[in-house]
Amino acid sequence: MGRVRGFLEVRRVPAPERDPRERTADYGEIFELLPEEELRRQGGRCMDCGIPFCQDGCPLGNLIPDWNDLVSRGRWREAIDQLHATNDFPELTGYICPAPCEDACVLEINDDPVMIKQVELSIVERAWEEGWIVPRPPQRRSGRSVAVVGSGPAGMAAAAQLNRRGHRVTILERDEAAGGLNRFGVPDHKLEKWIIDRRLAVMADEGIELRCGVEVGRDLDPGELRERFDAAVVAVGARVARPLEIPGAELGGVHYAMDYLYDRNRAVAAGANGWVRNGRPEISAAGRRVVVVGAGDTSADCMSNAHREGAASVTQLDTYPEPAGGRPRDLAGWPRTPKRLPTNYALEEGGERRSGVAVVALNAHDDDCVGSVEAVETDPETREPLSGTGFTLPADLVLVAIGFTGPEPALLDALGLERDGRGNVRAEGYTTSAAGIFCAGDARIGQSLTVTAIDEGRRCARAVDRYLEGSG
Ligand SMILES: Cc1cc2nc3c(=O)[nH]c(=O)nc-3n(C[C@H](O)[C@H](O)[C@H](O)COP(=O)(O)OP(=O)(O)OC[C@H]3O[C@@H](n4cnc5c(N)ncnc54)[C@H](O)[C@@H]3O)c2cc1C
Ligand code: SF4
Repeated sequence: MGRVRGFLEVRRVPAPERDPRERTADYGEIFELLPEEELRRQGGRCMDCGIPFCQDGCPLGNLIPDWNDLVSRGRWREAIDQLHATNDFPELTGYICPAPCEDACVLEINDDPVMIKQVELSIVERAWEEGWIVPRPPQRRSGRSVAVVGSGPAGMAAAAQLNRRGHRVTILERDEAAGGLNRFGVPDHKLEKWIIDRRLAVMADEGIELRCGVEVGRDLDPGELRERFDAAVVAVGARVARPLEIPGAELGGVHYAMDYLYDRNRAVAAGANGWVRNGRPEISAAGRRVVVVGAGDTSADCMSNAHREGAASVTQLDTYPEPAGGRPRDLAGWPRTPKRLPTNYALEEGGERRSGVAVVALNAHDDDCVGSVEAVETDPETREPLSGTGFTLPADLVLVAIGFTGPEPALLDALGLERDGRGNVRAEGYTTSAAGIFCAGDARIGQSLTVTAIDEGRRCARAVDRYLEGSG
């Protein structure tokens, strides 16, 4: 505990981020770092509680009090070792984790929590800057090989951990670049893509082979996974979008959010406006009246991209009633995450949210393209439509962001993998119904978080390692 009275003497300061008016002019990172002196003061607010609820709140079980203490004493080198002990990619979580650990911080009961996420990001960025993160290939190879299908955070973490144990790891990724949703869903202004590339370069130097543009089931026969490798990890995410089942959903100008986000991320990567891929012009919000249906992370990312493209207007429609703005200062619910407005960053940049509304139809303009959205207000308790509350919003682009139903079935069927009641891969202990095939991440648990996916990949790697040892 760096400062015994730190939590009494030091106030939490806001995590620095670029001005919303300025940042919508580009796709650069929103989040910034505090100066070292302030970070040390903030780390010193940690009370080193006997039971560190924060550590329990973090899906990775990050050793939070330990590195808060080290940062408060300026011992950054040891702090990165502690951080890497439980988290392979602290730069990913440092930028985009919603920080359930902070909700579980004991200080949250009657004060502001320790700025755990900012401290985490600062430790890892300092380590990159100092050159402390270098390739550490395994000293000995096991002679066993593993294919990891999918390069999202679950696949990356499984690959890193299996390689560390000496197995030869090949990542097979159908996209043109690795990172999964962190590359093609999350926009650059939340996570610039060189941050993923920087880590991938270290992983490559540690001996992991990455093969992009390889779709297992199309470019590689799924049967070859077991013929060419001793084991395989399926980490293909849960990408099937929940459909909007209302009249007019088939109109031009109505798109799934992920299609728009893939296009935007590719356009930003290409440094292009008016970008075209495979002869298809990108979905663009420029100059359009945009309505986003749904109000989660995906919706926020659509809104923020539309702001940057120069949309004429951006409106978000949410079926749920507006949640309370934060946790009331009492013990109810603690240390669980309270219901909060989930899209602050995009709304701070502009646009409007309308809560407690249901979209009932999309109307065509005269050329089969969407021209307006019909919606109705709903009862906050029953969510039933309230009579006489119908309204129409003009719209040239409607983005559907109402969640995901599960993983794509084709590869899973080809591999003969059983599903659970929610349509995800049944893989208790990460072991699937097919011998030698393991599963981790969103494909196993449904759409989740990057921190959870990293945890899944790490735990799955342990199961694969045990299997390989046993079958050796
Ligand atoms: C728009 C959006 C924003 C998000 N923002 C956040 C956020 O701010 N913070 C946060 O913590 N989480 C966020 N998430 C959630 C987080 O990104 C995911 O939970 C996480 O990426 C899941 O990791 P994964 O490795 O299981 O799957 P994915 O990241 O989905 O990766 C799966 C990979 O498998 C590949 N693949 C699929 N099929 C095949 C095949 N047959 N052959 C080869 N490759 C294949 C895919 O191309 C993909 O690269 C967001 C999600 C979305 C959709
Ligand atoms: S990974 Fe997320 S939950 Fe864990 S310590 Fe970091 S910010 Fe908190």
